[in-house]
Amino acid sequence: ERERKATERRVREACFPVIKTIDLFDFKAISTLNESLVRELLRGEYLQKSENILLLGNPGTGKTHLATALGHMACAQGKKVRFTSVIALVTQLLEQRENKGLARLMKQIEKLDLLILDELGYVPFSKSGAELLFDVISRAYEKTSLIVTTNLPFEQWVEVLGSERLTGALLDRLTHRVHILEANGESYRLAHAKARLKGKKA
Ligand code: ADP
Ligand code: MG
Repeated sequence: ERERKATERRVREACFPVIKTIDLFDFKAISTLNESLVRELLRGEYLQKSENILLLGNPGTGKTHLATALGHMACAQGKKVRFTSVIALVTQLLEQRENKGLARLMKQIEKLDLLILDELGYVPFSKSGAELLFDVISRAYEKTSLIVTTNLPFEQWVEVLGSERLTGALLDRLTHRVHILEANGESYRLAHAKARLKGKKA
């Protein structure tokens, strides 16, 4: 009972947008995904080694779902987790820098076992936004595990991060000890919307 309460608290503190677990995930719907690697990662050894996970793939293929499921499992394993969209984090970092709260925020982040950065997308960051994100990723290096989800191939990260040097350094840290999960294929959302439409017509 004590354990269950503690896990519940950790899940609350992780701020998942929607709670999604692995038992709700249909591996058959996404054939490109390496299921055995997902199962291995769910055991959580990557957290012990402060390794990272990169979830790549086009929209709607279950990246956020998987990142949440991994984070949820980490909470159950006693880890301190925080889920945030990349944009929300960068916005928060910029705000806290204005309000002199940056050091405190960075300390909070450094206490985490797992930081989930959801949806590195097409919206470019300001120069200082990109630098602050780089700072978070550098501090996490070999201390805190990161899960990053993105639909951007590596070649396009520079368009979002601005500087080629910063992108190189960031990728270097992020990918030094990384497990890559690729979820490519038809959007699960789209496939299900289509299936529903067909069902109605039939
Ligand atoms: P992404 O982050 O890759 O854009 P999401 O994880 O947000 O995709 O998935 C979109 C929706 O479809 C979510 O509601 C998610 O739970 C669901 N979904 C995606 N893939 C699967 C799957 N293989 N099994 C069950 N639900 C899935
Ligand atoms: Mg997503």
